[in-house]
Amino acid sequence: MIGEVAVALDVGGTGMKCALVDTDGVVRHAERHPTDAGRGPDAVVETILTVAEGLAGKARADGLTPIALGIVVPGVVDEARGVAVWSANVGFRDVPLRDLASARLGLPTALGHDVRAGGLAEARLGAGRTTGHVLFVAIGTGIAAAHVVAGSAATGAHGAAGELGHILVRPDGPVCGCGRSGCLEALASASAVARRYAELTTAPDDGSAAGPGPGRTMVTAAQVAARAAAGEEVATRVWREAVEALADGLATAQALFDVATIVLGGGLAQAGAGLFDPLRAALRDRLTFHREPQLVPAVLGDEAGCLGAALLALDQLETP
Ligand SMILES: [Zn+2]
Repeated sequence: MIGEVAVALDVGGTGMKCALVDTDGVVRHAERHPTDAGRGPDAVVETILTVAEGLAGKARADGLTPIALGIVVPGVVDEARGVAVWSANVGFRDVPLRDLASARLGLPTALGHDVRAGGLAEARLGAGRTTGHVLFVAIGTGIAAAHVVAGSAATGAHGAAGELGHILVRPDGPVCGCGRSGCLEALASASAVARRYAELTTAPDDGSAAGPGPGRTMVTAAQVAARAAAGEEVATRVWREAVEALADGLATAQALFDVATIVLGGGLAQAGAGLFDPLRAALRDRLTFHREPQLVPAVLGDEAGCLGAALLALDQLETP
C-alpha cells in the first residue's frame, strides 16, 4: 500500500546502515550510526532498539506507516529462531534479537545475516535481478557468499550457509582466521592480498618475520590491484595468485550450485576489469562440463545489506 515502509538495519562491527524502504524497494530515508561494538553486546542491542524506534518514529512523522522491521547482523544467525548466535566483530552470543525488537517496537520483525541479505538484494533488486539462480560473493576483509534461488537465500541447517571463504584451496597455504591452513579467504580476501604483498616487498632486517614493520603503511589490496595493472612485478604475482585462488573457489561453488550469475561485491570487486577479466578467464579454464556463469560486479554498493533487511522484513508478512 502507498506509504507503507519497512524499517531496515544492517548492523556491522563499526557502523549501522539504516533505512526506511517502501514496498517497491525504494529507499525513502537513510541514516547511519556508529555501532561502538567495544561497549559490549548489551549496549549494542540497546542502540539497535533505540535506532529502530527512532526510524519508526521518523516514518510516522513523515506520514509513512512502518509495517515491519528487518535487522541483519554478521556471523552465525539462526533466522528461524531469530537469534544472533555468534558474531566476532559485534560480540553477540545467542542474542534473541528478533523477539527483543518485536517486543520493543510492536512490529513483525525478521532477523537475518548481513551477507545473505546483501545477496538477496543483489539477486532481486540489483545485478542478478534478471536471473533466478544467483551466487553473491562479498570479498572484503573476509570472503562470504549467499546462494539465492527463486528470491530467497539458503540459510543452512545451522545458520551458517555460504562460508565460501573457508573452502580449502591450498592445503599448504597460509593460516586462515578460522585456524586451518589454505582457506580461500586466507589467499584471496582484500586483507590476504595486502598481507601477501607486504610479505614479498618487505625485507626482514633482523632475521625476524617479514612484514610492514613499525612506521610503514600497509599497501592495500586496491593499491596492489592498481600496481599490478601498471605492470609492477610483485603486485602482478600477488594479484595473479589471488585471482587463481578465487577462480578455484568459484569453480567449486559453480560445481555445487550451477548458478546463472555470480555477483561479486565488497571492496575487492571495485578493482573492475583488473579483477573481472583475468577471473573470467581463470574460471573458464577450470570448468569442464559445467556451464559458465555470468560474472558481474554488484551494483547496490554498501546499501545491499540494508535493502536485504527490508526485503526480509516485508517477505515475512507474506509467509504466515
Ligand atoms: Zn578458514
